Amino acid sequence: MNISRTSFPRIVIIGGGFAGVSLARKLSNKDVQVVLLDKHNYHTFQPLLYQVSTGGLEPDSIAYPIRKILQNYPNFIFRLAEVKEIDTTEKNIITNIGSLKYDYLVMATGSETNFYGNVELEKHSMAMKSIIQSLNLRSLILENFEQALLTDDIHERDALMNFVIVGGGPTGVELAGALAEIKKGILPKDYPDLDTRRAQIHLVQSGPRILKEMSEKASEKAEEFLEGLGVQVWKETRITNYDGKLATTMTNVVFETATLVWAAGVKGALIKGMDASELTVPGNRLKVNQFNQVEGVEDVFAIGDIACMVTPEFPIGHPMMAQPAMQQGANLGNNLIKLLENQPLTPFQYKDKGSMATVGRNKAVVDLKNYKFQGIFAWYVWMFVHLFFLIGFRNRIVVFVNWVYNYIRFDREARLIIRPYNKDYTRFKD
Ligand SMILES: Cc1cc2nc3c(=O)[nH]c(=O)nc-3n(C[C@H](O)[C@H](O)[C@H](O)COP(=O)(O)OP(=O)(O)OC[C@H]3O[C@@H](n4cnc5c(N)ncnc54)[C@H](O)[C@@H]3O)c2cc1C
Repeated sequence: MNISRTSFPRIVIIGGGFAGVSLARKLSNKDVQVVLLDKHNYHTFQPLLYQVSTGGLEPDSIAYPIRKILQNYPNFIFRLAEVKEIDTTEKNIITNIGSLKYDYLVMATGSETNFYGNVELEKHSMAMKSIIQSLNLRSLILENFEQALLTDDIHERDALMNFVIVGGGPTGVELAGALAEIKKGILPKDYPDLDTRRAQIHLVQSGPRILKEMSEKASEKAEEFLEGLGVQVWKETRITNYDGKLATTMTNVVFETATLVWAAGVKGALIKGMDASELTVPGNRLKVNQFNQVEGVEDVFAIGDIACMVTPEFPIGHPMMAQPAMQQGANLGNNLIKLLENQPLTPFQYKDKGSMATVGRNKAVVDLKNYKFQGIFAWYVWMFVHLFFLIGFRNRIVVFVNWVYNYIRFDREARLIIRPYNKDYTRFKD
């Protein structure tokens, strides 16, 4: 990898997401050599991926070059590398561009979509965990309407205009709301020769309520907002399979659709060598102690989505969200310095700053510790918080201008098929 040893201990961080970047900031200008490895050369602001999928934002405005984040940190080295394997006995990391020894290793690899072992469902449904997947979804949504114009078969046309979103968490809710707004404001203008009133958006949730991590009031209000926008919300409905044409459920409900978006679960992004069952919990997360040290392996830490820290308050670990990831990164940064100075470490204490989701124009739900509110004020708060946490001044300006423009014009101009997604439409001919 062409990285020389210095007199300082070497800390290798795998992953430049929320957790990795927050840790990196704490280690800047300290007496350590830090090597950050990521398979992408950019940081992704995942909470706004759904806006890329629905043409509200260009992908560049929610991505930020990792090298630029690190450019003022002289003790940092970045390599664009996918880590394939970790040998904890030799303290060696094997990547697609070579191998590297570490003194301390931090796993900040985040998570990936969990299809719970259903291979057919995984093959045919769309995930939304990365910019590339969001662009695929954007293309597919638009291609479906182009295709719908070409067919005389009403069933095929309806299937092309039906969207099934599985998972009633913030991602599913936000995507469903955005699609409903497209149906109302954009499709009739873009496709005047297509009866786009027939387009359907279904949000399918296996449990009794959507946004189950939030308050009951937030769930109720989000459902009311969605139904007001014309989204059909299916609760207590579990999708069992999808063959690219029909989505079956545990009840009698069957959806005929060309697009099924799977937002119903994630699992830790484990790497070979760190995937042994004694190191992990169900959901592929690494068991860590209160200092984020991986239990049973020396000098290896894990932070963010990949880490599972069981506490009385969080018996299945902290929520897989940006706030715990950033807070764990910052706490570990301080602790690594303390460790090198032989000082006692500080246990991680999660400060829950609340949660929120938007359903669409002027509609959001916000749960703070002592104050829960919904509607237009919540929507302003949602926008402010997302702009605040976006990395990069340019990105904030671009996103803000886009939002103002979209708000005034009722538009989403990034509805472009730049890289076509090749869905096999022939199956609808059966
Ligand atoms: C669509 C969507 C919407 C979301 N909305 C919200 C929200 O509204 N609020 C909220 O708090 N959270 C939200 N989340 C969750 C939040 O984004 C994650 O909890 C957060 O990104 C976790 O941070 P992390 O640093 O652990 O992982 P990530 O941010 O996922 O970063 C992991 C990094 O590791 C890299 N990596 C992984 N494996 C390897 C490898 N083998 N080699 C090299 N590099 C590797 C990846 O490229 C990536 O850059 C959302 C997530 C998604 C997908």
